[in-house]
Amino acid sequence: MARLVKKPLFNPQGDTDVRLRRMLGGNTTNLNDFNNMKYSWVSPWYRQAMNNFWVPEEINLATDKKQYPHLPAPERRAYDKILSFLIFLDSIQTANLPNIGQYVTANEVNLCLCIQTYQEAIHSQSYSYMLDSICEPQERDSILFQWKDDGRLLRRNTFIGDIYNSFQEEKSLDSFLRVIMGNYILEGVYFYSGFMFFYNLARNNLMPGSAQQIRYINRDEATHLYLFRNILNELQKEEPDLIDEGRRAVFRDMLREGCEQEIAWGQYVIGEDIQGLTGEMVGDYIRYLGNLRAVNIGLDPVYEGFDKEPESMKWVSQYSNANMIKTDFFEARSTAYAKSSALVDDL
Ligand code: ZN
Ligand code: ZN
Repeated sequence: MARLVKKPLFNPQGDTDVRLRRMLGGNTTNLNDFNNMKYSWVSPWYRQAMNNFWVPEEINLATDKKQYPHLPAPERRAYDKILSFLIFLDSIQTANLPNIGQYVTANEVNLCLCIQTYQEAIHSQSYSYMLDSICEPQERDSILFQWKDDGRLLRRNTFIGDIYNSFQEEKSLDSFLRVIMGNYILEGVYFYSGFMFFYNLARNNLMPGSAQQIRYINRDEATHLYLFRNILNELQKEEPDLIDEGRRAVFRDMLREGCEQEIAWGQYVIGEDIQGLTGEMVGDYIRYLGNLRAVNIGLDPVYEGFDKEPESMKWVSQYSNANMIKTDFFEARSTAYAKSSALVDDL
């Protein structure tokens, strides 16, 4: 493949044979056909994403509203900064995913990207609901736009923002692959020091509604991570000449840089004064995640000696494990949505 080509929109002459379907550079009809798919993982992915449907306003934040003004200062500072960063991540995801979709010629994968975009919009909106519930409008705005006052947060946002902006400005194979890898890092590394902070609060009986909301978001992000992992792995199969050793080295460098940024950020926001969580714990966990993300797309681990989940962080997966969410206190909700006829009756 010599260059990145935008997919056609209305294209009656497109290929209908699934064997000709490609992630990039295919001749797509754009027809949404659920019966003929090339990638076997798409159908279960789609079902899972649909079953994960949730509504932010149904989470009770009454305890959080009471506790937020009385949080210890380090917890309060971290809560605000982490929330501000998460709002940025979900917002830029919502805005950028459709740009990626314009170049993906595997229609079924584009469908997944549309569902993901919709979920990122819900995530962004859920943070507004959190802020609206726990603080006054002025405080809310200062958390939303904290990058205006916090240079560390601005730099943090700039790293991912620059990768996305360069694809916005120049549509090349190089910028496309970097934006795909950027998504993989964002979904698989950047969210996690924030998530673990909220789970740590819940472990200390603080802000239970916020943690519950983060669990729903985490469950969605796990499917997004899986989607981008599969896109990267299919691309490596379909385009071995494009994703050669040189590009794989670029991917690995990006992943390492992403992990370093996340560790530095995690240590800055969490510091050493939060009960139950230290900068060292965050660093160990991010290095472990970085290795996991590397191996899952066929790269060598990035950090030596971080191949197992750190003992001190075993509690994180008790909160983030998607299966536990389903069988745990979310079960009533997810089955209720599957059977609900109320929405249809209201139309
Ligand atoms: Zn999200
Ligand atoms: Zn996501």
